[in-house]
Amino acid sequence: MGPEHLESPERITIIEKALKEASFKSKFIEARRATDEEILTVHSQGYLDTMYRSTGIARIKMTEDTSTNMFTLDAALTSAGGGIQMVENSKHNHGFSLLRPPGHHATQNAAMGFCFFNNIAIAANAIRDKYKKILILDIDQHFGNGTADIFKDDPDVLYMSLHADPQISYPGTGFASNVGIKEGLGKTVNISLPWKLKDSDYLVALDEIAIPISEQFNPDIILLSLGVDGLEDDPYGHLSLTTDVYYEIGRRIGDFNKRNTNNKVPTFFEGGYKYDLLGEATVKFFEGLLNPDGEERIKAELTPKFSYQLRKIKSIQRKHWIGI
Ligand SMILES: [Zn+2]
Repeated sequence: MGPEHLESPERITIIEKALKEASFKSKFIEARRATDEEILTVHSQGYLDTMYRSTGIARIKMTEDTSTNMFTLDAALTSAGGGIQMVENSKHNHGFSLLRPPGHHATQNAAMGFCFFNNIAIAANAIRDKYKKILILDIDQHFGNGTADIFKDDPDVLYMSLHADPQISYPGTGFASNVGIKEGLGKTVNISLPWKLKDSDYLVALDEIAIPISEQFNPDIILLSLGVDGLEDDPYGHLSLTTDVYYEIGRRIGDFNKRNTNNKVPTFFEGGYKYDLLGEATVKFFEGLLNPDGEERIKAELTPKFSYQLRKIKSIQRKHWIGI
């Protein structure tokens, strides 16, 4: 995207350093490249050909906000391959695919939003034989339009996203009224959140919509798109979350996972551009995920800022899920 761009390699080094200094132990493994066959479970041959043609060329503008350089194909294949490696080993340890480019905006035929291959979708398809029902939970503060689009008619993959209101936030889609199509009707859950939403309301969205629906869906495994761009003052974000809420989000997901699946939670790195808090927020997320029985640090509490939108989302979801 260019040397000055915020979606930079520094994001990885900051988080890697923070994970190495964290109270829990991490083991780092080199990622492998995805094969063409694995990429083609999600993307079209034409689009893959376009990506291959980009090698050796200094810069190709794929869309308004996303361009390749000489190394993008290799990085994108490795980012997708590392995700597959992780899900294939999800039985015993929580995994984190700390790789870039991110993936959740990439559609079958197009790069966008700094994403080239949809890493989480490719990984989900790699384990379809092993797991029938897959929950993809996306807590990046942007709607993962690519992932949603890829699984929009799939009854066995529930795509659930908590993101800032599409009227104010990229990519401008992901309204609560979009609930999937055909066989996948009801299997897209968009929880769009008001501008500058704070921690306690965010936890209400998790407790009153995301977790009850996830329980009813009863997944065999959860794959997580983790973005920490919901932090207050993230340059691309529109929410006002603190790093502490990432502990609570992790703890709640860990608790749900412990009660509902026999696997750990493979986690994919998406957005997050507030460099001074990136590492802290990510570490706190994993502290929570690893500590599902831990003490609650922030209480869910509904404020008037979110009450109208919460009612609206519930009235939409009630048509597909009981007791929402
Ligand atoms: Zn994002």
